[in-house]
Amino acid sequence: MAFQIEWIESQFFDPGKIANQMIIVHHTGSNNGQVNSFEGTISWFKPATWRTYSQVSAQYIIAREERPIVQMVRDDDTAWHAGRSEWIIDGHKYTELNNRSIGIELQGDGNLVGYTQFQYEALIWLIRQKMQKYNVPLELVRGHQEISTQKVDPGRLFDWNWVRNQLSSVSVNVPNTPPADVVDSDNDGVVYTDPNHDVYIPDGRDRSLFGRIVEAIFSLFK
Ligand SMILES: [Zn+2]
Repeated sequence: MAFQIEWIESQFFDPGKIANQMIIVHHTGSNNGQVNSFEGTISWFKPATWRTYSQVSAQYIIAREERPIVQMVRDDDTAWHAGRSEWIIDGHKYTELNNRSIGIELQGDGNLVGYTQFQYEALIWLIRQKMQKYNVPLELVRGHQEISTQKVDPGRLFDWNWVRNQLSSVSVNVPNTPPADVVDSDNDGVVYTDPNHDVYIPDGRDRSLFGRIVEAIFSLFK
């Protein structure tokens, strides 16, 4: 199947981002047992009239029926899809995941009705590209409900086993260098997200600057 991407720009995003380290899968939800419409989701992310509440967006939306995937935020810009969330990436816990991820919305409600074959195939096609382009390992392809305990998407009917199986052959070159915002200033292999705490300790264990000073003072009296 050939897939296409149609560009419809959302107003809701921040320019730029730290990196594309994760891919987050969502669903668009339902209302009174009716799956939200594809057009409705587009106009929710790109309202005709500017709104100051519920400002949300995602990079991509995949319809239930066969039609082009819609992209609403550039990969290199920050869409507003993850909300309050957290995940460990390369050993660091992050709570701001919008600027480290690509958000993909599936039209539907994965706790109400299963996704279509078209959606699964388009999703695999899209995720595979992004994994290769941005070196995202399979373990960092996650559902919204995994990164945020208050969320229920993409839901229990989303077939993670099939999706993971389809993506397991994607080979990703995970770089050894830390992401640009993380600086190992004393080059001892131990990195703190707050560079002020990155203090060199000869035995290889980093401690706080305060701890070092206390220890240095005590060593004077030995
Ligand atoms: Zn979501």
